[in-house]
Amino acid sequence: MNYQEIINQQRAFFNTHTTKNISFRIKELKRLKDILKKNENQLYESIYKDFKKSEFETYTTELSIIYHEIDLAIKKVKKWARQKRASIGLANLPGKSYIIPEPYGTVLVIGAWNYPYQLSLCPAVAAIAAGCTVILKPSEVPSRTSATMAQLINENFDPNFFKVVEGGVQETTDLLDVKFDKIFFTGSVPVGKIIYQAAAKHLTPVTLELGGKSPAIITKDVNVDMTAKRLVWAKFLNAGQTCIAPDYVMVQSGIKDKFLTAVKKYIDQSEYHVDNDNYTQIINDKNFERLIGMIEQDKIYLGGKGNKEERVIPPTVMKNVDFSDKVMEDEIFGPILPILSFDTIEEAIQKVRQLSKPLSCYVFTKNSTIKKKILTEISFGGGAVNDAVMHFTEQTLPFGGVGDSGIGNYHGKYGFETFSHYKSVLQKPFWIEPNLKYPPYSKTKFKWLKRILG
Ligand code: NAD
Repeated sequence: MNYQEIINQQRAFFNTHTTKNISFRIKELKRLKDILKKNENQLYESIYKDFKKSEFETYTTELSIIYHEIDLAIKKVKKWARQKRASIGLANLPGKSYIIPEPYGTVLVIGAWNYPYQLSLCPAVAAIAAGCTVILKPSEVPSRTSATMAQLINENFDPNFFKVVEGGVQETTDLLDVKFDKIFFTGSVPVGKIIYQAAAKHLTPVTLELGGKSPAIITKDVNVDMTAKRLVWAKFLNAGQTCIAPDYVMVQSGIKDKFLTAVKKYIDQSEYHVDNDNYTQIINDKNFERLIGMIEQDKIYLGGKGNKEERVIPPTVMKNVDFSDKVMEDEIFGPILPILSFDTIEEAIQKVRQLSKPLSCYVFTKNSTIKKKILTEISFGGGAVNDAVMHFTEQTLPFGGVGDSGIGNYHGKYGFETFSHYKSVLQKPFWIEPNLKYPPYSKTKFKWLKRILG
């Protein structure tokens, strides 16, 4: 496929200024929601064929989130896109200054496989709201969801405005050769570095939504039962294939056994069983083997035995884990939960800080001093106190990483900002022009300028 040609056409369309019209953006957002709603069954079927993701989880963790983003954008885009006044200094009086949100232009969105609809379409929604044209390259790994998005978008949108390009490494590499005005990438840290380098050649700004090992730290004063309930749900949702899943748990020594017992209780009560239709498969054989290779038999507390043919691994809890164990080397991204213990909060913080800055961090404590200490001393993308994963659902919170877990953020208004340049303008009238800055430079002028400029 000639990507340069597609991008040239999108750029030509962008240059007609059609996308700058707010009604156009709203119309296209409504079109997207309408298409998704009308084709929900096809969306469910495709994702189920790819990795047995159930309707329940597909709606709650993918479609409903896209619908919310669309609805919010439709409601607020006029306000977000409005020119905003800024205050003005003495040196420029009588004038005024303002900020005009301007769409970046022709943007590339690259999706990841684990929430294939949501991670592809939410950035696209933000880009459309901001007035960009979009080329979306979903992950090729869940091939049916990728094909479904390509079919639904390409049959219903003008390709000069919004087009899905399918493909893997080669196609993405070719796309990256072309100059875009913005690249939004969701995926792994190593590929994030490739994207960043490719973007740098064209000085293209990027948003990188990456991953990492997100900790959950539990102090001994918590409600153990509620902590286990929330963590079991958050960890094994989508069979642990969630970028913000609690990767590992650090629990204060005194309550470790009680916590393990509660974790078992909630796993037993959950939908997370290998033969349950609401329990997701591991995406492919490569990841299945990778995950099985992380499990140390003598540390298994629960689960551990996967079914290769079905590509399922039961919720697996490992106890007495150490930071030097294999499971602590890289992001797990699967249904394995290592439990580590600590004595003092200083020790826990120090251990977490030895790893790269995580995408998320979860603190379970009733002690506000400890909560504050963790929130102050550990740098992370976003997180929750006494919960996990649910911060993602708040559209008023910017979602993104820091350091190795990413650059930039989105969701709600933050998504609009991610695809906008904020153009700043100073405007002056003609009727007056103070002479202070003009020659001849005199002592009096200098004195006055010093007063004005501070
Ligand atoms: P990935 O990096 O393998 O792939 C992501 C995208 O990059 C895909 O579209 C793929 O086709 C493309 N790609 C892969 N290799 C490439 C290459 N060499 N050159 C150019 N493009 C390439 O990631 P993944 O396996 O799809 O997703 C898993 C990772 O993504 C995990 O690390 C996870 O934490 C992270 N993730 C982050 C978020 C977030 O919002 N921060 C969300 C989901 C997943």
